[in-house]
Amino acid sequence: MSQLNPRQQEAMQYVSGPLLVLAGAGSGKTSVITRKIAYLIEECQMPAERITAVTFTNKAAREMKARVQKLLPSDKTKGLTVSTFHQFGLQFLRYELLHTPLKGNFSIMDAEDSKRLLMDLMVRDNMSGAESRELVGKAIKMISDWKNDLIPPEKAADTLTDPEDMLFATLYQLYERNLRAYNAVDFDDLIVMPTRLLQENSQVRDKWQNRIRYLLVDEYQDTNTAQYELIKLLVDVQPRFTVVGDDDQSIYAWRGAKPENMALLQEDFPKLKVVKLEQNYRSTSRILHAANSVITNNEHLFEKKLWSDKGHGELIRIINCRNDDDEAERVAKEIITHKLRNANEWQDYAVLYRSNFQARMLEAQLRQLQIPYKLSGGTSFFARSEIKDIMSYLRLILNPEDDSAFLRIINTPKRGLGPASLEKLGLFAQEHQVSLLMASSHSGLTHVLPKKASGELKEFADFIERYTQELYQHPDPVPLVKQMIDETGYIDLVRSEAKTPQQEKIRIDNIETLYASIQNLINRADDDDDRTIDAVIRKLVLLDMLEQQQEEENTNKVNLMTLHAAKGLEFDYVYIMGLEEELLPHKNSIIAESIEEERRLMYVGITRARKELTMTMAAQRRAGGQMKTTTPSRFIDELPTEHIDAPGMKKSAAAHQPKKTAEDYLANIQALLKSKAAK
Ligand code: ATP
Ligand code: MG
Repeated sequence: MSQLNPRQQEAMQYVSGPLLVLAGAGSGKTSVITRKIAYLIEECQMPAERITAVTFTNKAAREMKARVQKLLPSDKTKGLTVSTFHQFGLQFLRYELLHTPLKGNFSIMDAEDSKRLLMDLMVRDNMSGAESRELVGKAIKMISDWKNDLIPPEKAADTLTDPEDMLFATLYQLYERNLRAYNAVDFDDLIVMPTRLLQENSQVRDKWQNRIRYLLVDEYQDTNTAQYELIKLLVDVQPRFTVVGDDDQSIYAWRGAKPENMALLQEDFPKLKVVKLEQNYRSTSRILHAANSVITNNEHLFEKKLWSDKGHGELIRIINCRNDDDEAERVAKEIITHKLRNANEWQDYAVLYRSNFQARMLEAQLRQLQIPYKLSGGTSFFARSEIKDIMSYLRLILNPEDDSAFLRIINTPKRGLGPASLEKLGLFAQEHQVSLLMASSHSGLTHVLPKKASGELKEFADFIERYTQELYQHPDPVPLVKQMIDETGYIDLVRSEAKTPQQEKIRIDNIETLYASIQNLINRADDDDDRTIDAVIRKLVLLDMLEQQQEEENTNKVNLMTLHAAKGLEFDYVYIMGLEEELLPHKNSIIAESIEEERRLMYVGITRARKELTMTMAAQRRAGGQMKTTTPSRFIDELPTEHIDAPGMKKSAAAHQPKKTAEDYLANIQALLKSKAAK
């Protein structure tokens, strides 16, 4: 275990009041948090269950927990909370359920579910067609902003001047009412509801303030108003906390993050102690020079210097590629050659990009060269919408109480049930203390709903009931599952909604894969009990969760992720792809003139690298089915020329060489290995 430097130690040992550690990338902020948790438990005898640490991503939370567990024996970390803000909020709501408008099995709507609900509400209000599709994005954003600024639905209209925006305020009210009727919350609610409750209920507040004796927050620069309020409410009486952050790495302004919250801390907590760290322990000095030289182009809230004693290191390379295909190929080949030459591990490499679509071509290249990789933040099998839909049918068969499964499929495919009917159904279910599915077949429903709607719901409930019966009895359930899905018209829906033939094929293939894995589970089952459809569905649901975990496991694979997802992480060799105007900086940011945020993203990307950094750009890139000539990113001009190696910048010699196939390449590598072995 490395020794903390004196300033880090000072930060670790200061426990008598509020503390802000303000420091640049790689200076050991997260290390201070993990060491401080151990210090609080070991030296200050604070029980682990009285300590709460929060951060932003699941990956970061898991990593933080793992680091603490390395520092302490397992019995000492029992009860310690290390989680994301959202996980914390969820636990809080479960704990304080009685004080919320929610019932026990409340559902959590993901972004896609929220979007569907809003779409439905808009259609109901006759904002139909293309126009509503355009509006829905704007509506989601406005509603989320209101929530994150802690503005309740009834107050939203007060903040508006534009009469057109009034529509969104009305929509916000409708949306909230529907969520409550469905006994559901969205992601923002996971922060907003606990915050409200703490504001309004002094008993609950006292309880939590007593319970949490010490609070630690990583990546503080990305907190939004609601999160900051939550922090303040949790620490109020005797403000003892440590928050660490770097205003230059604030990259979530679009989600309401306010780097000003750093300055606000000083106002709200006059006794705030500030510790600055300046030594970077991560990167070579060339990499740091590059990072510093880019970020100086931004206005600064706080001045920070960073230095490193890791030596100059290699020059930062910029590779100029002919087009996006060439770029993906070069990166994949670079990685395999570099790895073999230096006897590295795959996991030492990371490829970062601004937008998810940039990974597609690279994935194809990596597969061809048989390079193992893992994609973080991409869509995993069980997160694909067609799989989620079909799994929801199956989940409902397994558990008629699963309201979130019900909500996902009640109108997929469309059954002519508008949000007004569903809202009434939700209220009815609440009143009678039954699930949405049970309410659907309740005889009393005809009194509160129009005949057509209650008829549809009854029919749906009967449909699920019938297949539940049959599936539980049938010795060979998979064909029956297929039949059920076909009968709903879902496959036709997938076909009609697909934008391209490829997309249709991918989706249908995914569905077939799901059927095949159900069959597989049945075939492989050891005894008859495991062969039943409910056992199989249960297993699938578990697999779903496992897959999510597996994705995060530290396996030996090349890491592919967006720049946003890379925050807080570090890798020996980093590639940043697509250094072009409109990509990085992103087109939307150029239009919105928020270049500074893009520059911070660039800074985050550069500072992920420990040993070597390579950037690539393509002279031409496919966009909307056409090859377009690109312009190199303005951030390239901001790099220090003395630390840059950019051979391809003037003229790409590779352009005239015959293209090697993946097979040629593998053959060369094998030859190289053989000759090495021979020596
Ligand atoms: P970021 O801003 O990217 O989140 P950070 O400030 O949180 O970075 P850490 O991730 O905590 O930085 O640390 C960066 C690297 O430096 C880690 O590999 C960590 O183990 C190492 N490190 C931190 N402090 C020291 C130290 N005092 N001596 C040696 N290595 C250290
Ligand atoms: Mg960190």
